[in-house]
Amino acid sequence: RARIRTDNDIGIGIQSGTRINIGLKTGTWIGIEGVTETDMERRTEVGIENRADIDTVTDREADIEKAVAAARRAFHRKSEWRQLTASARGRLLHRFADLIERDAEYLSTLETTDNGMLYAMSRLMMQGIAGTVRYAAGLADKVHGDTIPSDFEGFTYTLRQPVGVCGLILPWNGPMSMFVSKVATALAAGCTMVVKPAEQTPLTALALAALLAEAGVPRGVVNVVNGYGPTAGAALTHHPHVAKVSFTGSLEVGKIIQQAAGASNLKRVTLELGGKSPLVICDDADLNVAVPYAAEGVFAHQGQVCVAASRLFVQSKIYDEFVKRAVEYAKNRKVGNPFTEGNQNGPQVDEEMMNKVLGYIEKGKAEGAKLLTGGQRIGTTGYYLEPTVFADVTDNMTIAKEEIFGPVQSILKFETLDEVIDRANDTNYGLAAGIFTTNVQTALQFSNLVEAGIVWVNNYFTFEPRIPFGGFKDSGLGRENGLEGIQQYLETKTVNIAVPKLT
Ligand code: NAD
Repeated sequence: RARIRTDNDIGIGIQSGTRINIGLKTGTWIGIEGVTETDMERRTEVGIENRADIDTVTDREADIEKAVAAARRAFHRKSEWRQLTASARGRLLHRFADLIERDAEYLSTLETTDNGMLYAMSRLMMQGIAGTVRYAAGLADKVHGDTIPSDFEGFTYTLRQPVGVCGLILPWNGPMSMFVSKVATALAAGCTMVVKPAEQTPLTALALAALLAEAGVPRGVVNVVNGYGPTAGAALTHHPHVAKVSFTGSLEVGKIIQQAAGASNLKRVTLELGGKSPLVICDDADLNVAVPYAAEGVFAHQGQVCVAASRLFVQSKIYDEFVKRAVEYAKNRKVGNPFTEGNQNGPQVDEEMMNKVLGYIEKGKAEGAKLLTGGQRIGTTGYYLEPTVFADVTDNMTIAKEEIFGPVQSILKFETLDEVIDRANDTNYGLAAGIFTTNVQTALQFSNLVEAGIVWVNNYFTFEPRIPFGGFKDSGLGRENGLEGIQQYLETKTVNIAVPKLT
């Protein structure tokens, strides 16, 4: 294991192994220890098996200790970072966005290599990733408090100040988009931070950290430490000098994090967790639109999306026709190497996740759901799964209750809006929901009553940096993005000033 240090002292590290240069774009490389050349070649070639062979190292806690200390020094009131004006922080973020745009091809290649995301998708997402950074850049100098009149002689004003050192813990399914949502917003707020990427996808965070250094972010402000959750992640959530943790990942780990945060120093916590999102297709919907949206809603990125439309409720009058078309759509979907143009699905992120999805498919069959297409692994190299469609799914089946995180469409039948609202809400999750209908009243009634952080009407998957995002119920705590996003990295300070009357 070694740590790479850029000349700006942003620590980036990946665990033990042989040194290689990852040179996917001529002239650019990051030396990374922990992935062998053979590994990389194989991973690129077969369409990403993906788990970089990491970590027998036991000093993750020591690395976190150093990284938190660096972030704490960088947050000192006299540090270079704290001396910057808000507009200077905004300019730095714009420079970071420029560099992301410059290196878009390289970064998206790295993301696909690391994660298995279709290259077409990772390339397309670069615009949104740079856009998220620019949105945060614009927010930096718009943070301000209020002036509040007083009944006494004087007045009160509030200041909005950065919360301090943040621990940002990322999942593997959208490594770059999660990195920029959290890091750029925390930087706009004036915080310093330690980022822990998911162990399955350690690479793009390192590349982005190098770009932050190039943009001129001062030493120690952003520190990236790769490592496993129970070691590196836990050390961060228990650290008394970390003021806030922002976590995206599973509900199970979210609960552990909230407990750890409360047990140490009452950290502020933002949690973006899983979902079991309902998508409702009413019998007045245009099937030419609804069928592809519903399919993309659960097959895109191999189903590894927190807001996946994993419970598809179809109204009885159109049920049979919808199911027929959904099966056709799934059968025609091209699965293969994510770098190959025209492929629509790549591999699952790793063997463990692939087996987990196959396990759910078996449960679906065993519990009586009707498997109409798919259900199998494709080939023996790479972790490719057939797009799978189950019909006649009922609410109590495991595949209708638990997050599958794979390309599995579960279709349930419903009769009335009233009924489907209760069934849609009958889950501990509350991340996203969708409805396809041409009746505006139906759309609004559903949107008002469904328990979800975001509702899409005749649409699915629209994300923008200006849209607040987060979950009801067990899907999370707090919101990312939008004007609310930056508030999660700020504290309010109230200052009361006595102004005696001039007599
Ligand atoms: P995960 O919970 O297994 O891991 C997420 C991160 O937490 C990783 O970096 C991991 O190393 C770390 N971690 C694990 N144990 C830890 C511990 N004890 N202490 C501290 N950190 C620990 O999740 P995952 O499998 O990487 O991601 C998939 C999950 O993320 C899904 O449930 C998905 O729905 C969810 N997700 C949610 C959103 C959202 O915005 N709501 C977005 C993407 C993914």
